[in-house]
Amino acid sequence: MAVSLAAALIFAAMAVAQPPADARNRALIDDLVTANHILATEGILDGYGHVSVRNPANPSHYFLSRSLAPGLVTAADIIEYDLDSNPIGDTRAGYRERFIHGEIYKARPDVMAIVHDHSPAVIPFSVSSVPLRAVAHMAAFIGEGVPVFEIRDVDGMTDMLVSNPKRGRALAKVLGDHPAALMRGHGAVVVGATVKEAVGRAYYLDLNARLQEQAILLGGKVTYFEPEEAKKTAPQDGFVRAWDVWKRKAEAK
Ligand SMILES: [Zn+2]
Repeated sequence: MAVSLAAALIFAAMAVAQPPADARNRALIDDLVTANHILATEGILDGYGHVSVRNPANPSHYFLSRSLAPGLVTAADIIEYDLDSNPIGDTRAGYRERFIHGEIYKARPDVMAIVHDHSPAVIPFSVSSVPLRAVAHMAAFIGEGVPVFEIRDVDGMTDMLVSNPKRGRALAKVLGDHPAALMRGHGAVVVGATVKEAVGRAYYLDLNARLQEQAILLGGKVTYFEPEEAKKTAPQDGFVRAWDVWKRKAEAK
């Protein structure tokens, strides 16, 4: 009895000193799950694509769901990876394109969250000579420039997937210090200083693509944001207000 009480006290003391990783990261993981559901609900991710967050307690690790449709992701599906995109103590199948995340986190210490999507509205701009440019103030970050990743420059004729570190590094290089990059014939990668910012940017990248196409179809001259306007127009709240309403909508589904 005395021994088991002592053991229980020691265990309790250890638990106070070192809460399990799951508990320490609970809020972050909850936001990551919510990000999956928002992006699925808003049609930015369908059965494919993914969103990750860097581990703030260990910046050389990040969290990403196991290979699963984003709309179905729960906290139990989240895997921790190192920046070479090796899972930490987990044997479940991961996304083949997880190298997008690891290699961008390596190249961009400022980036804390990444979305990779196949948003239908942006794909035309990844294959056309018409560049995606900012036409709407909520998407003014596009005015900082959105380069296009051409996978043929890296590996010639491929299956289009960023499924190894070499392709991930090349994508990170094209992204440079921009907020997003298009991937020719494939989709986009969008980064943020928070998961809310990355989700907001992914949402408005898609919306801007649709609005730009409509503006072009009107047939007149289109006036785009100047870089200086883009800088001045960046949302001040990191999309927090929009996140709250997107979250409620996604949870109501
Ligand atoms: Zn993809």
